[in-house]
Amino acid sequence: MDDPCRELIGQFVGSDVDPCAATCSFHDRPCTLSSGDTLQLEVERVDAEWIPLFHRCAAHAVAAFPDEHTVYGVNQALIETTLQPTGAFLPQSREYAPEALTIADITIVDVSTETEGRKPTDHP
Ligand SMILES: [Zn+2]
Repeated sequence: MDDPCRELIGQFVGSDVDPCAATCSFHDRPCTLSSGDTLQLEVERVDAEWIPLFHRCAAHAVAAFPDEHTVYGVNQALIETTLQPTGAFLPQSREYAPEALTIADITIVDVSTETEGRKPTDHP
């Protein structure tokens, strides 16, 4: 599979409401990550682009791409980054936020290639 990672560098991971904070997908109430924090991301390849699926804070970090999120036929990866305030255009307002958090570096933790993962028939 392609190196999932290069093209994700610089991608915005905050929210339009607060571009300087990222949230974990696995808290009942939003848990906020800021510059310098480690963020894990589950990403998948859709139409030749890597799309983030879920954010994981340090408390919700995992060692391998979660089996329940795998999809057969789709390249997926679990990556880790240290959040940096490098600035980005916000996806919704399209305004530039100079302190917006982005993916600054990438470590691949695990991959689920398109020949791995759950098939639709595995989900009754
Ligand atoms: Zn969390």
